[in-house]
Amino acid sequence: MLDNLRQDFINKTTQLVVVNRELEVVDSDNNLFDIDKNSNITDFHPFFFALTTIFDEDLQEETFFCVQMEVLGKHYFIDIKTYIGEGGDTLVLILNDLTDHYKTVHQIKQVRNESIINFNISQELNQQLEIQRSFKNKFLANVSHEIRTPLNSIVGFISVLENTEISREQLDVLHIIKDSSKNLVTILDDLMDISKIEAGKLDIKKRRFDFREFVEKLAKTYQIRTDDKRLSFDFELSSKIPRFLVGDHLRINQVIVNLLENALKYTHQGGIKFSVTTSSVNARRIPVTFEVTDTGIGIPKEKLDSIFDSFTQLEKRGLFGGSGLGLSIVKQLTDLLESDLEVKSVEGEGSTFSFTVFMGVSHNQKKEKVAKKKRDKKDLKGGKRPRILLGEDVEVNQLLMMRLFADYGAYSLDIAKNGERVIEYLDRFPYDLVILDLTMPVMDGLDAAVQIRNSSNKKVSKLPIIALTARTSQEEQDAAKEAGMNAYLTKPIDADLLFSTIERLLSRYKRKDKVLEISEEEE
Ligand code: ADP
Repeated sequence: MLDNLRQDFINKTTQLVVVNRELEVVDSDNNLFDIDKNSNITDFHPFFFALTTIFDEDLQEETFFCVQMEVLGKHYFIDIKTYIGEGGDTLVLILNDLTDHYKTVHQIKQVRNESIINFNISQELNQQLEIQRSFKNKFLANVSHEIRTPLNSIVGFISVLENTEISREQLDVLHIIKDSSKNLVTILDDLMDISKIEAGKLDIKKRRFDFREFVEKLAKTYQIRTDDKRLSFDFELSSKIPRFLVGDHLRINQVIVNLLENALKYTHQGGIKFSVTTSSVNARRIPVTFEVTDTGIGIPKEKLDSIFDSFTQLEKRGLFGGSGLGLSIVKQLTDLLESDLEVKSVEGEGSTFSFTVFMGVSHNQKKEKVAKKKRDKKDLKGGKRPRILLGEDVEVNQLLMMRLFADYGAYSLDIAKNGERVIEYLDRFPYDLVILDLTMPVMDGLDAAVQIRNSSNKKVSKLPIIALTARTSQEEQDAAKEAGMNAYLTKPIDADLLFSTIERLLSRYKRKDKVLEISEEEE
């Protein structure tokens, strides 16, 4: 039986041919191909011309692998073995049909090559994307800086104007300008956030904070905003949530504000509900669920997936204002907070956005007593006012700071137009605090800060330093910290924040006689 099988297999795959030195066919079993006796084998296929060298060089045994032949329109892949016959005048050819085998190998190789090519292409594309992305991020940082600088004087002088005697009508117009400028700042912040998130530079900073106060403040703000729009506002804060939690309240705040702003924007009747709950008690880490529900215009089912894409606004909704960046940031921030953002919405009925963040429960649930001694402006007048030195090169910004300080009245302000001048002034006059713009000609703010910290005069080297800049990137903030600066404020200047920071630094400086790090401790 085996003999039959073997014979059958050999018949289907192998052909024996014998040729003489003239390459004429002496014999052939014609198992695969019809090759006539006495014909020249090169007539059957020109490949066989190669056999002459075998006779010439007397190669006793030879193999030609994977010879491709087209016979009667069909493609074959054949291995050909040759033996020189007895007497040396004939050549035995064993033709082995390996078409299926070679086709499979060929296919595998083809797939492999394609995958290598595809891999290279995708690497190339990734590199290009990375280059584009980093270009985009740098471009955004620069544009944002360039826009922030003039915006700084616009926002600043609006608050100066607000405190002058102007008519009711002028004040109304001023408020419109103020709101629009604030919107512009928000868009710039959003753009910077998106590029920071993309560049992986936005991380979560966990700190202990008064959670209940944080949520209650938010609710209070939106209670007023909804009242203004004649909408109802329901607020629920579960009593099971402890007062002091550990988490990134800035990022959580950003998510909630975006959701509440949208709810407000897209709701015209009914109201908004903001609830903060937990499903667990008495644990070291608890899940806190934030939910914003509105009875607004809702989102069509088929559009629910696309609302998280950057610059996506559902058509005809442009009239509501906004840039279409809010939800994209919300989605990326909730991802960073290791939370899932859920949306339920029925067109014409309303929407519910919710997310759950795990937060640590602080060991210490007691409120620290903050010795908030409000500086009495009157006491400080008459030569007692702390003296502040500002390094700032741009004239409108100098003017703005002069006005803000003059209006505030608690400090005296000197201005130097670059870092070198700052150092000169510090050598000549006593100061209590230094504010430095980071980008200045001759000597920039970072170099000036380093020089101050390296000063041999202890009164100078320990001065509190505030960076005041239009640059908002994390690198710049890290660089400022590295240079020994104690606080980082961004333009447009928020006058309240500026003066409260000065106040805080001055009281720490006086109390401890040394400069403290500004960043709060992580728990
Ligand atoms: P925008 O700046 O346009 O508000 P967002 O990214 O915040 O951008 O939202 C994207 C789109 O999702 C909005 O343009 C709006 O069409 C839709 N949307 C978001 N929140 C709501 C909501 N609470 N109710 C109805 N539609 C919403």
